This record gives sequence, C-alpha cells and structure tokens, in this order.
Amino acid sequence: MVLGELGTRISNALRKLQNATIIDEEVLKECLGEVTKALLQSDVNVNYVKRLRDQVLLQVNVESDAAGTNKRKLIQRAVVGELQSMLESEKKPYQMKKGKINVVMFVGLQGSGKTTTCAKYAYNYLRKGWRVGLVCADTFRAGAFDQLKQNATRIKVPFYGSYTETDPVKIAQEGVEYFRSQNYDLIIVDTSGRHRQEAALFEEMEQVEAAINPDEVIFVMDSSIGQSCYDQALAFKKSVKVGSVIVTKLDGHAKGGGALSAVAATESPIIFIGTGEQFDDFEQFEAKSFIRRLLG
Ligand code: GDP
Repeated sequence: MVLGELGTRISNALRKLQNATIIDEEVLKECLGEVTKALLQSDVNVNYVKRLRDQVLLQVNVESDAAGTNKRKLIQRAVVGELQSMLESEKKPYQMKKGKINVVMFVGLQGSGKTTTCAKYAYNYLRKGWRVGLVCADTFRAGAFDQLKQNATRIKVPFYGSYTETDPVKIAQEGVEYFRSQNYDLIIVDTSGRHRQEAALFEEMEQVEAAINPDEVIFVMDSSIGQSCYDQALAFKKSVKVGSVIVTKLDGHAKGGGALSAVAATESPIIFIGTGEQFDDFEQFEAKSFIRRLLG
C-alpha cells in the first residue's frame, strides 16, 4: 500500500457512514474494521490500533444513544480524537532550557532532509535569541560539510567540521567541546545518514552518541518514504535514544500517514514538521491540523 493512502482510506471509511440509512452496531463495526485495517497495513502498532477501536466502541454506543443523536458525527469525532491521541505520544519531548547548554543530535537516513532540518532547527532558536552552533559529524558523504557550512553561513550560525578528519566521533566530540567552552545555548550535531539501514551506520551513531552524551536525539523522517517507516524508525530507536521526531517534506504529495508509524515505533512525539526547502519552512507540530491534513 502506498502510504499516502492511509488518510484517504480512513476518510473513505468515515464518509461511508453518510450513505448508511441507519447507524447500527454492524455499520459501526464495518467502519472501524476498515479504519483499523488501513492502520495495520501502514504498520501502525497493533496495540495502538486495538486501543483506537476499543476507545471508539466505548465512546459511541449506537444502540442506546438517544434517537436524534447524530451518530455519524459521534463516530467521526471519536475516530479523529483517537487518531490525534495516537499522534500525541505519551512521552513529552525534551524541554530545551535557555541558559543551559543543550546538545541535540540529529539522526536519519540520507535524503530524509536531516542536514536541512538541522539548519531549520538552528534558525528557529536563533530567532528566539539563542546562541546556536552547528557541528558536522558526517564524514561519510562527500560534500556533507560543505552543505552544512553553506546552510550555517546563510543563517549566520557558527559551525564546526573538517575536510580531512575521517573519524566522526572525534569531530562530534571536538565540535561539542568547542561550543561548550564558549557556553553556547544550543549545540546541534548532524550525523551521517546512509541509503539503507546499514550496521556500520548504526554503530557509528552509537559511538557518536556515547561520546557526546546528547540531551536529545531527534529522528528525521521523510514523509514520502512509504511503507518502510515503522521498521526504519524502530531501527533508529533501538540503536540510539531517540526522544523526538521531525517529519519533513510535508509540502509534497505525502499526507503523512507514516508519522503515525514513526510515533508508534519510537514512542516519541513529533515536535516539528518540514514544509519546504527554505529555513523558515518549519512549523511546530500540531496533532489536530496534522490529522485534518491526513484525512483531507
Ligand atoms: P540529508 O541527506 O538527510 O541530510 O538530506 P538533505 O538535508 O540534504 O535534504 C535532501 C533534499 O530534501 C534537499 O534537496 C532538501 O532541500 C530537501 N528537503 C529537506 N527538507 C524538505 C522539506 O521539508 N520540503 C521539501 N520540499 N524539501 C526538503
């Protein structure tokens, strides 16, 4: 299944309620069957899906609700509400503290938009008056340092990296140390991403994490990657202490159904979304409008 379809399938299932002449137990169960199937086929964790189903059944009692109650609306509202709470991970994101040194490490596959997102994230705090430094610990991809450097220069943020050093752990450590010694508020470390989930990538990431002991690890996920997002997010979560998620490229065709899988896999909240290539194409995540878009 193409992931963009998740939202369409759920909204179709909800729309079908309009065509039913009476809303009874059977119609409700059929609707919920379609919603849960769509979620499961998008690799959303079975426990989350079961909870959605149980909660909706608890909230909507089609047989005993008074005649005249708009049961269609009740069902729709309950499903949307449960999808929303599915997206609002129980875990709260790391609270950035101004006046303290916050070290944040970015992880994700190559092409997910990680380096761009580091700059967007930096820019977001820069505009709030924070002192921000960027560290390029991607020694794998040729041009990675140049890209970070260009971004950093454009937003006028100091950066740390090397053209010659091949050990990402060393650069990460040195970069963080450098900005620490200058008492920066926020130190952002960009790590290397590969095309696939390679063992070497994870090993390297773990070493960087151990060396810099970040306050927060952010997993960056491309909203258009399709069905593999649950496994991908889980692999990252198993390797490093992912604490929050940023979903990118939501300006494209993808409706973002994969976000549900990413939250389920990492048990972490989404904090921002990327909506374009510019540094200010970056929005605070808001579950309600995200679900509206997903089902839109
Ligand atoms: P990395 O390999 O994960 O570091 O990915 P990059 O930051 O190099 O981004 C890969 C491509 O995606 C670049 O062309 C970015 O401009 C683009 N990109 C990143 N975020 C977004 C976004 O939110 N929307 C769009 N349309 N493009 C993005």
